[in-house]
Amino acid sequence: MYLVLLGAPGAGKGTQADILCKQFNLLHLASGDLFREALSKGTDLGKQAKVYMEKGLLVPDDITIKLIQEKINGLEKGQGVLLDGFPRTLEQAKALDKNLKAQNKQVDRTALIDVSQEELLRRLSGRWICRQCQAPYHLQSAPPKITGRCDKCSGELYQRADDTVETVKKRLEVYSAQTSPLIDYYRQAGKLIEVKGEGEPQAVGKKLITALKAG
Ligand code: AMP
Repeated sequence: MYLVLLGAPGAGKGTQADILCKQFNLLHLASGDLFREALSKGTDLGKQAKVYMEKGLLVPDDITIKLIQEKINGLEKGQGVLLDGFPRTLEQAKALDKNLKAQNKQVDRTALIDVSQEELLRRLSGRWICRQCQAPYHLQSAPPKITGRCDKCSGELYQRADDTVETVKKRLEVYSAQTSPLIDYYRQAGKLIEVKGEGEPQAVGKKLITALKAG
């Protein structure tokens, strides 16, 4: 199965991706994580992506499509995949369809996690993440037991450079202009399921699983 997870920055895609990957035995492919990894290693790709990421802008399609295609093409046959953060433009979605079609595969389902603007802003500006295991925390609503340390693995918590108020606003604008058209693209293809993403992560996860099993 190829499952695309759609939702604005802060909608909870990373958390829900973990739940869904366990439930459906999928590999989690997160374009943002791949870019951050390249950036921390200082590769050419990382250097190219840095300028855009810092401003809350999308990395150009040609660079992004190549990165994801290489990942997908290198997977074992039959490996199910959850795509998180990709595609983010119509061009990326069409390139993904073309690449999968060439392998007799397709995007099977798309799950949209829908969260209000106010809630997204609140979530992103208080978000801290574990450097080691990527577990997310929130200063107000989900603080760690020990300040600055991950409850799960004791890793160091950090705030993403693009989680500042200004950059967050830009990322939300970019989502609405460039990524939200994908909702209609997948709806028209009959592949979209939608759930409200406010509330406890486990409850949102249950709704997603139920909707995906039903559809
Ligand atoms: P994310 O962790 O998904 O919020 O991604 C962090 C940043 O990486 C984004 O703000 C973009 O600069 C870049 N990025 C991630 N995925 C994509 C994509 N599919 N297309 C273009 N840029 C992306």
